[in-house]
Amino acid sequence: MDTVYALSTAQGKSGVAVIRVSGPQSLSAAQALCGDIPPFRQASLRILRDPDGKRLDEALVLTFPKDGSFTGEDVVELQTHGSIAGVSSVLTALSAMDTLRPADPGEFTRRALENGRLDLTQVEGLADLIDAETEAQRRQAMRVLSGDLGKRAEIWRQKLIRAAALLEATIDFADEEVPVDVSPEVSELVSDVILSLDAEIKGVDHAERIRAGFEVAIIGAPNVGKSTLLNALAGREAAITSEYAGTTRDVIEVRMDLGGLPVTLLDTAGLRESDDVVETMGIDRARQRAGVADLRVFLVEKGKTPDFAIGPDDIVLNAKADLLSDKANAVSGQTGFGISQLVDQIASILKTRTAGIGVATRLRHQHAMVRGRDALTSMMSLLPQGEDTADIAAEELRTAIRSLDSLVGRVDIENVLDEIFASFCLGK
Ligand code: GDP
Ligand code: MG
Repeated sequence: MDTVYALSTAQGKSGVAVIRVSGPQSLSAAQALCGDIPPFRQASLRILRDPDGKRLDEALVLTFPKDGSFTGEDVVELQTHGSIAGVSSVLTALSAMDTLRPADPGEFTRRALENGRLDLTQVEGLADLIDAETEAQRRQAMRVLSGDLGKRAEIWRQKLIRAAALLEATIDFADEEVPVDVSPEVSELVSDVILSLDAEIKGVDHAERIRAGFEVAIIGAPNVGKSTLLNALAGREAAITSEYAGTTRDVIEVRMDLGGLPVTLLDTAGLRESDDVVETMGIDRARQRAGVADLRVFLVEKGKTPDFAIGPDDIVLNAKADLLSDKANAVSGQTGFGISQLVDQIASILKTRTAGIGVATRLRHQHAMVRGRDALTSMMSLLPQGEDTADIAAEELRTAIRSLDSLVGRVDIENVLDEIFASFCLGK
């Protein structure tokens, strides 16, 4: 294994920067830089010098033994000043050592996986945690990182292995009279797993929304104040507003944190009949995007009916509250009236759509679980046919076990690794 190094904190000026070195030569590399290195896990201040003895920086030096490090290898962390020139001088000194090379993006984590410090789902959780921008994303990523899916998969595995052993016994002793019928126990074990898989498979759709974000479309007739409302929600001038009808033509997207949930707000062209070709295209696009959005906020001029099919969860509000004497159920982007209630209402509707989230969070998990569940369902249909189909049933069980093993990366790991690590940044 090579020894690799990288800047683990973000590029650019900062108070402190962390340079990480991992691999069999990491301790000797640190020794070359700072003379004597502190004992494992005891941070100590050291002067870092180049081979000519010139001072590069002063750094807090931390070392970890391979049985207690993130990567499962000897690791050194140099906490230097976050100066662009300072960091670069230390990286240059490391690159001059022939036993070292720069790490690839995600390489520290990849080593952690290869050394069994993390399972594949935890690697995914870590990737999500680093990408997390909202509270809901952070919480979900932490759950995955803690290894809950791996633990659940282990429970499934235990049950299926027991079921497989029972079935194999039927096959092996087919000629002798098997004293007990194993099928009730096999059936109970497998049904349990199927039930639990079904719930997790459904939950992934919700979890994916937390990862990718929800879309909320603001729609209504021209000039009711949609763009003004979007700007008020976003807290900035994201869309052009004007008294001229038909100002917004394309769909404008603003990503924001709404009550902890990741939301993309869509401002759309006002819905009306138009002779303008470009505006008509914008209106078509508005209808289409609003139709597939997770939630629609309709702004209506009091007394008019909206020109769009309203779903049961959609929000309908009277526009320009400041001009109305009856302000019930009204909002105003201009004065801010009703904005915080609207934010709460959107957040609480979207939160109900995250209720089914379990421990599985990605489409990759969903696919593996669907493969597993389908094999188990097919196995269950073979079970009543007894000895004749016991071979095929056992094979279906093994297929299910393999599918669930691929969840945590026990098998079939190569084809997914590159995809997962493509999202990692340098130094992680
Ligand atoms: P859109 O076509 O639905 O996007 O509407 P705009 O946001 O562009 O607003 C159309 C016009 O209505 C502009 O002149 C805004 O200043 C005005 N307007 C928007 N919101 C309000 C509001 O809450 N109260 C009042 N009085 N005027 C508003
Ligand atoms: Mg507009």
